[in-house]
Amino acid sequence: MDAIFIPQLTKAPERTEEIQVREFLPGLDTLTPVRGVIRVRHCGNYLEVLANAEAIITCTCNRCLQQFNHRLAVDTSEVIWLDETANQVEDLPLEREVPLEDLVESLLPQGYFHPSEWLYEQMCLAIPFRQLCDRNCQGIEGTAKNKSDNSAEKTVDKRWASLEALKKQLPG
Ligand SMILES: [Zn+2]
Repeated sequence: MDAIFIPQLTKAPERTEEIQVREFLPGLDTLTPVRGVIRVRHCGNYLEVLANAEAIITCTCNRCLQQFNHRLAVDTSEVIWLDETANQVEDLPLEREVPLEDLVESLLPQGYFHPSEWLYEQMCLAIPFRQLCDRNCQGIEGTAKNKSDNSAEKTVDKRWASLEALKKQLPG
């Protein structure tokens, strides 16, 4: 995916560029290529970015540690402000608290938009925090408990019970 030179967008039809995605994203471990579409529109002092994409990833169940495949999908849009002072956060004193509105993404109006990196971030945000192979997964402990509940102990009990019964039948 090529970077988009932002001023170039103003000359595109409807100030919009559409990118067909069908590739593995650098740094994102997916089983299948990411497939979908990104649409970037120049709206004067901001970019409107839409994405609709999906891929299959391998997750590890938090409870039983088994691996399973998960369909990772994004259907999202974001406003990216075009701001002459974008990316100058490094110059600020470290002690300064950054107000929440400053965390909204912004880019230089004469800069580039990197669709690949942006989509990577969106896909990462969509990775489930809590990964479960099944909503009712019993986990490792659950599996172990089920096993010990099985017949073995009960069979022993039954044998002892019949021994007791035999004893009672024997003359004291
Ligand atoms: Zn599980």
